[in-house]
Amino acid sequence: MGAVTVGESATSGDFSSASPVQDQPVVRPRLESVGGRPCGRLAPSPTGALHLGNIRTFMVAWLQMRACGGTVRLRIEDLDHPKHKAGAADALIEDLRWLGFDWDGPIVKQSDRLPYYKEALGRLAPLYPCFCSRADIQGAQSAPHPGEVLRYPGTCRRRVDPAPEGRIPAWRLPLGPEDDGRYVDAFAGPQTKTADALTGDFVLARGEDPAYVLAVVVDDHEMGITDIVRGDDILPVTPAQNVLYRRLGWTPPTYWHIPLVVGPDGLRLAKRHGDTRVSAYRAAGVTPGRILSALARTCGWLAPGESVSSLADLIPRFSSDTIPHTPLVWHDSLL
Ligand SMILES: [Zn+2]
Repeated sequence: MGAVTVGESATSGDFSSASPVQDQPVVRPRLESVGGRPCGRLAPSPTGALHLGNIRTFMVAWLQMRACGGTVRLRIEDLDHPKHKAGAADALIEDLRWLGFDWDGPIVKQSDRLPYYKEALGRLAPLYPCFCSRADIQGAQSAPHPGEVLRYPGTCRRRVDPAPEGRIPAWRLPLGPEDDGRYVDAFAGPQTKTADALTGDFVLARGEDPAYVLAVVVDDHEMGITDIVRGDDILPVTPAQNVLYRRLGWTPPTYWHIPLVVGPDGLRLAKRHGDTRVSAYRAAGVTPGRILSALARTCGWLAPGESVSSLADLIPRFSSDTIPHTPLVWHDSLL
């Protein structure tokens, strides 16, 4: 990893000045050449088991590519828990295969890619260190509404006090007027709020640990992803990701943000709504076809009562036009 110079001269990562690599971006081949074909991805996190909400979004991502002859990549987002939950990653891969998902090229694991994220941090420097707690930031404004993120007001950008001893800094990107980030979502439509209005100066690393928002951009670029299908809970940080694409000199992908699956109470599907893990249905003897058909009916690819036996059977039925623009309220009676 001769290209990685970030943090070499500092004990715990220092992104406060421009790095020497900034003027000499490292050129290396993408993880896989996709030859101009559309390329999507499945990006599960091993912190929780796959449940119906994940599966519905993955179905859209997979079918979209298989319907147009595109490529599908699999990336395990294990950045937060690189050492733990190794078995969880294997379990979710098994769940995906059981449902009929496949993918092209090797599986990418974020925990293997830390040097690349650090290199990108060097190119994005200068960043400034922030020592605010979440409570500090919350205290400076009214609480965010559902679907919003906590906006950082830039407190530490003007900080003159020395760094508090023993505190690990969050490294934030100072946004300028050119860091707009607005875009037109292929599913959710025009996004009219800027990165500054949504997130403010956002965090790119905590200490030396790269933030999710950065890792995803680096991976999606280097994996040649052209189309990102994901839950619309990520909408508020997408302008921030567009800022990173621009700052790094890359072209943003096309985004398709799909409404989440929620419980009868309108909250994101979770344990309190019962066990909607794929593994639980499998253990109860529910077939992949029954799960896939139920979710396909909620996307308008099958008529009420109609079913298929495999994921591949849905390829000719796929359309993004029939997917409702409102959250899916899940109940097992839909199975
Ligand atoms: Zn701060």
